[in-house]
Amino acid sequence: LTERLQSAFSKLRRKGKITDSDVRDMMREVRLALLEADVNFTVVKDFVNTVRKRALGSEVLDSLTPTQQVLKIVNEELTNVMGDEAVPLNKAPHIPTIIMMVGLQGAGKTTTAGKLALKLKNEEHARPLMIAGDIYRPAAVDQLVTLGKQIDVPVFEMGTDHDPVDIVKEGLNQAAIQKNDYVIIDTAGRLQIDEKLMNELVRIKELAHPNEILLVVDAMTGQNATEVAKGFNDQLDITGVVLTKLDGDTRGGAALSIRAVTGKPIKFTGQGEKLDQLDVFYPDRMANRILGMGDMLTLIEKAQKDYDAEQANKMAEKMRENSFDFNDFLDQMSQIQNMGPIDDLMKMIPGMANNPQLANMNIGEKDIDHLKAIVYSMTPTERENPDILNPSRRRRIAAGSGRTVQEVNRMIKQFNMSKDMMSKMSKGNFNGMDSMFGK
Ligand code: GDP
Ligand code: MG
Repeated sequence: LTERLQSAFSKLRRKGKITDSDVRDMMREVRLALLEADVNFTVVKDFVNTVRKRALGSEVLDSLTPTQQVLKIVNEELTNVMGDEAVPLNKAPHIPTIIMMVGLQGAGKTTTAGKLALKLKNEEHARPLMIAGDIYRPAAVDQLVTLGKQIDVPVFEMGTDHDPVDIVKEGLNQAAIQKNDYVIIDTAGRLQIDEKLMNELVRIKELAHPNEILLVVDAMTGQNATEVAKGFNDQLDITGVVLTKLDGDTRGGAALSIRAVTGKPIKFTGQGEKLDQLDVFYPDRMANRILGMGDMLTLIEKAQKDYDAEQANKMAEKMRENSFDFNDFLDQMSQIQNMGPIDDLMKMIPGMANNPQLANMNIGEKDIDHLKAIVYSMTPTERENPDILNPSRRRRIAAGSGRTVQEVNRMIKQFNMSKDMMSKMSKGNFNGMDSMFGK
């Protein structure tokens, strides 16, 4: 995934300016990256359309660093969809704040209930009560009771023989008596969303009036997470999402899908089985994770720096010594000849393929022989001091090399262009190169 984006973007990096079709190529890579991150395909489609519109605008096309601009837009839009900052838990104006955990079986509801209780205890010195509302799995009540013991948080339970709504009712009474500031209700899940489960959850909701209904979703379920989130949100109007199992190797595309489809904020992420492994959700970090953007930006920056440094150092040295003369020019010509077909070679130089100035130069194999002949006809002093080439010297050189004076003049002009180019390069930044080749 990241590799693919890298190669797509690094291809572009070599060009100064990008075109509509470059943007199309980039958007294809972004689309594939999102799909590979398990983002829901309709969400991907909308997202890519938004990014494409912005990418085709002048902010990118006229930019000196178009690839970074596009990456920036992708990142901004991702963050935009997922929200700009972490959204805190809803709080009740009077205690207790009631939090209801919902989600499919195995998503991590019970574990997250424990994690959340521990977090509230540690960070707010809160005194939460947990209610064991899952009566269907025999071990579910025990699991919550055990968790409670581990973190020293009381658990209200009535075994498995009562209606969960009654259990919650009794639990809330107990919380009122004991003045608990938070109540966390653990509920049952199913493998799939079904009516019986939803009815039960709706009844609990109507009784408890929770301040927060947290949908717990397993991030590893990928595409399926979107449907699940939509289903729960339609029936229960959830207030937030916890994305668990992000310690796995998923890119977390579910975060983007869920947020886009439900509009509800992801509030926490589960980062492991241990009870302290619950993190606040940071949209910008998730954006980076989904596209592997962190790696990508660093890599692109690094590639540019390496390139700059190498080129600029060589040239800067020449310029510093002010020693670029016709001997160097001769060297360059010979090197170019040794490297193979000139047309192909020129195309490999960043920006050259599109550069009208260089296209006009129209250098061919034979031309280079002629250029060399001209330089050979100069005296050593002339080669080292290009400035002394006055008209009479030029006529002499033309005669000596068998070329016309016009050709000699043109060659000197090319030499000066070359020198000028290097002076720009020696200033040593990539923007300088962009402006030279691209603009
Ligand atoms: P529930 O059925 O929704 O109550 O799910 P549980 O809380 O029982 O969790 C199901 C399994 O997922 C358990 O083995 C948990 O330890 C595990 N689990 C929960 N959250 C995470 C998480 O963030 N990371 C990892 N690696 N495992 C988790
Ligand atoms: Mg459970």
